[in-house]
This record gives sequence, C-alpha cells and structure tokens, in this order.
Amino acid sequence: MKIVHAASELFPYIKTGGLADAVGALAIALADSGHEVSVFLPGYRAALEHRDAAEAVSKLRLKIELGDQFVSGEVRAFSPRKNLTIYLICREEYFDRRAPYGNGERDFEDNAERFIFFCKGVTETLRLLDIQADIVHAHDWQAALLPLLVRETERRHGVTLALKTVFTIHNIAYQGLFPGVKFGLTNLPDELYNIDGIEYYAQVSFLKGGILFADRVTTVSPRYAQEIQTPEFGCGMDGVVQTRVEDLSGLLNGVDNSIWNPSIDAHLPARYSAADLSGKGACRTELLKRVGFDVKFKGPVFGMVCRLTEQKGVDLLLENRDFFLNEDVRLIILGSGSKRLEDEVRALTAQAPQKITLTAKLDEAMSHLVEAGSDFFVMPSLFEPCGLNQMYSQVYGTLPIVSRVGGLADTVIDTDENPATGTGLMCAPTVAGLADGLARALRLFADRERYAAAQQRAMARDFSWTRASRGYEELYRDAL
Ligand code: ADP
Repeated sequence: MKIVHAASELFPYIKTGGLADAVGALAIALADSGHEVSVFLPGYRAALEHRDAAEAVSKLRLKIELGDQFVSGEVRAFSPRKNLTIYLICREEYFDRRAPYGNGERDFEDNAERFIFFCKGVTETLRLLDIQADIVHAHDWQAALLPLLVRETERRHGVTLALKTVFTIHNIAYQGLFPGVKFGLTNLPDELYNIDGIEYYAQVSFLKGGILFADRVTTVSPRYAQEIQTPEFGCGMDGVVQTRVEDLSGLLNGVDNSIWNPSIDAHLPARYSAADLSGKGACRTELLKRVGFDVKFKGPVFGMVCRLTEQKGVDLLLENRDFFLNEDVRLIILGSGSKRLEDEVRALTAQAPQKITLTAKLDEAMSHLVEAGSDFFVMPSLFEPCGLNQMYSQVYGTLPIVSRVGGLADTVIDTDENPATGTGLMCAPTVAGLADGLARALRLFADRERYAAAQQRAMARDFSWTRASRGYEELYRDAL
C-alpha cells in the first residue's frame, strides 16, 4: 500500500511526547513490512537541523491559499531508510522556532495559520507530485483538517489524492480550538462552519474535523476508544465521537524495541535480560548515585518520568507525600512542565532531599536509566490515551503502578487480582487508590519470590510495534 502519514511530531526529528514515538515507530514498522510510506512533518528548526535532513532535497515551491492571501513555502524531502520518505513542509516564519507549539506556558498566537498551512501544504504536495495515496493517515489536532482538505482539494481540482483517510486521536484533551474568524483561513465552504461541520460553540475545532470527516477514526487503546464516548473523558467531544462509533477503533501503541530494550540499551551502564538480571542491579546503583542517594540503599526505589501536567496524576502523588516521607523508600522523578507542579514537587524534595528527588528537564538518557534502575514505576494518570512508560517499564522489569484508565488498564495486569499472570499494580485514579497501590507495592517488594515472578512475566510481554502495526495494516485493508 501507499501510505501517507501527517503529524506534528516524529521521533527522532521533533518530540514533545508519545505522539512522536508512536508515529515514528509505526512509519518504520510499515516501511519494513514493504509498504511505501511517506511522513509529512512541519519543517521545524529542530527537524531541519537533524543530521538526516542534511540530505534533504527541495521538491517543490508552494503557494498556499490562506483566506484571501497566498503564502509561500517549500517542500523538502529525504529518505532515512528503504520505503520511507520524510516530507518537511517549510516556511521559516511559521516553523523556524525553538519549540513547536508555544513559548513555555503560552501557545503561539498564529497556531491556526501554522497548522492550516501545514495541512494545505500536504494536500498541495500530494496533488502536484501526483502521489496517489491509498491511505492518508492524519494524527492529532495539528493534522486533523487534512481528511476534509483532501476531499475539498479533490473536488476543486477533479483529482484523487487518497482512496481512504484515517484520523488518529492520540489525546482528545488537545483539540486545536481557535476563534471563529480563523475559519476563513481554511477556504472551506461556509456550510462547514456549523454544528455538523467544524464549528464548536462559535469557535473552529480542528479535532472535530478529523473525527467527523475521516473515513476511519482510531485512538491509541481499546479502553480509551470507549472512554472518549463519555462526558467524563470526552473533553466535550463525546457527543461528536458518538456519531462515529461504527468507524471507531482503539489500537494500542507499541514499544520500539530497537530503542527501548534493556539488552542493547546504550544509555545504561550495564545491559540485562530476563535470563540475567544482574545488569539491572548495576543500573539501580548508577541511578541512586546519579541523584546523590546512598547507593547501599536496599528498599524499593520508585521512579517516575513524565510531563508534569495534571493529566499525569502528579497531584495524587503529592497528596501521598506522607508515604514517601515516612516509609523506607526512594522516589526519583524526571519531569518538567507546569510551574505549579514543579514548585510543589520541589517543595516536597526539600523536605527529604536524601530520599526524594526531582530532575526538572527533558533528558532522554536519564529516562532510560530511571526505567531500568527503579523497582517500581509510578504512573497514576487521571486519564491516559495509551501511555508508553508503563510498557517500557514492564520491558525493563520495573513493575508499574498505574491508574485503571485508558491504555494503562489495557496494558498492565494487577498482580493481586491475577496472581498467576500479574505484571504490575492497578489502582483507582484517586488519592486513596494510589495510597492502596503504594502500600501493596511495599508488600510485593518484601515478598521477593512474588516480585521476581511478576518481573519475569512483565519482561516476557510482547509490546512490539510489529504486533501493533499489524492492527493498522488490517484497518487500512478493511477501509480500502
Ligand atoms: P505523553 O505522550 O502524554 O507525554 P507517553 O507516556 O505516551 O505520555 O509518552 C511520554 C514519552 O515522553 C516517553 O517516551 C517518555 O519517556 C518521554 N518523556 C516524558 N518526560 C520526559 C523527560 N523529562 N525526559 C525524557 N523523556 C521524557
């Protein structure tokens, strides 16, 4: 199949979260199974500075209609492996910036223009290079207008750009909601600015466009596909999602085991496998040393790696501060984000600097060390479309303590509920729920035999992208 992806993030060129990992690994898995895969990405500064992009060649000059103006741009392309082409939709004014979406806490004022330009850049490239895709697969709000713009371009020019379109929701909390006046920039027919189109309470919703107008809609775990149909998790889009249940499915992300694999991980001081866990001890020692803790500590080490946002349940962790202050445990957090949460976590570390630590930055190497060197990985998210770290931690033999929501519920098996198959601990997404999970973790850690058996089962699970990408192949075939 000829498969075209469009997304705002792609590992290793630009990443702020799981979207980059998911699109990167899916594209590679599809290319390696012989499909002809293209990925469209905004020409961010970071992407253009990546060494692969040194090979990029200019493919096209663009003139994109944005309302009553024409805005110029350029398409650059390179091919980092067989069957895979990356197209960068470039315009310095929009994408030559330090970060993709905003400066710290505030989004860029021109995000509507930037991502309409991106989506139209994709349709123009498909048209002018006559790419003739079987599938156009758009990801998250930044690319969500693409299914609609594909059909609009086909109608205007009397051509076919794609046989079917797919839209994946990686997180329904981010919707691309802009003032109604921005609708004009889409140049879509006026009748699409209403309740059955992309209007959402007098604003333009990019996400709504993806949900309503793609041939198939997917999200990144089966349970999240159910949850987003409810007011509790739908973030105001539950009614819109409900209109598409026939075409909606939940396909779990996978783990890229060329990157997240303790037996080959170059970020670790020692490598290990389920058959020989001695290297994991060395990772634990290195982790304790790295954060300045006593390396002879024998009790359980709890690790956490995440964006510090409310979604990740950081408040639940803070409300359980007494556990970490009073018990003989260590807590190692790697994460940055909201200033309030960063300040509150830092205040907690100040109360017990020999036991609790925060590294407030993005640090790819340290994220691997935390996964490998901890005994438990804490992920008490309030909602979680799929989540990657709870899968990474199982692969690294680090038992996850997770909330029973979304992809966490789909990928972790509770050891107390399922003694023969359990791989972690699952709790209610509440303060008391997490307190119960932490207490159960202490008991599990004290019972070495039970802990070791759960660890072996966790490491034996298959979270590979080979499995995950098969689901997408089936979906594409079914749609076609
Ligand atoms: P989300 O996409 O909501 O941020 P996921 O669990 O799906 O959550 O993916 C998060 C990804 O970002 C993981 O690869 C994780 O290791 C990485 N990550 C998050 N915070 C940091 C950090 N401070 N340093 C390095 N990597 C991080």
